[in-house]
Formats: sequence, C-alpha cells, structure tokens
Amino acid sequence: MGINQLKEIIMASSKPKVIRYKHHSNTYVAVMKKNKGKHRQSCLCYSCRLFHPKGPKTNCGLAQLLFSICCIYDIVTPVWECPNFIADKNKCISD
Ligand code: SF4
Repeated sequence: MGINQLKEIIMASSKPKVIRYKHHSNTYVAVMKKNKGKHRQSCLCYSCRLFHPKGPKTNCGLAQLLFSICCIYDIVTPVWECPNFIADKNKCISD
C-alpha cells in the first residue's frame, strides 16, 4: 500500500457518515449517524430551570421558538450555548 492510498483511507475514515430516516412528521431527514437520537444529551435546555416543553405559555421563549422552527422545517436544533441558562440542580451539576 502506497502513502497516497494510506492518506485516502485516513481521510475517508475522518468524514462523518450521514444517514436519512423518517422524522416524526413522516419527512425524511438527514443526520450524522453518530448524532442520531442524541438531541437530549447535547441540549442545555434539558438541564435548565426555564425549560417547560409541555407548557408553551410557561416555556422559555427561545426554547419555544426553536421548537416551532423544528415543527415547521423538521430541523433539530440542540442548544449548546445559551446566555440565559439557569441550572436545574436536580438535572445537572453547574459552576
Ligand atoms: S434559557 Fe437557554 S438553555 Fe434555558 S430553556 Fe431557554 S434556550 Fe434553553
């Protein structure tokens, strides 16, 4: 095996694998395979005191807006960074 073949193998293995599956609205969506089903693990909202997903009137306005975008466009947007986050001590450890 030559050095160029080795480089090609290394480059190919570092590319993310993207798959498609049927979203809950019956639309096919693309997702990086390693991230499928991991939205809750990555999203700050699930550790935030302001997050009330079952109560649109009491839910954080930004979280509610993101949920609306998800429903309209079938886009899943976990929140990784947020200036308004307030730790829910029952759900996370925070500084
Ligand atoms: S304040 Fe930020 S982290 Fe908390 S629910 Fe709203 S968007 Fe999510």
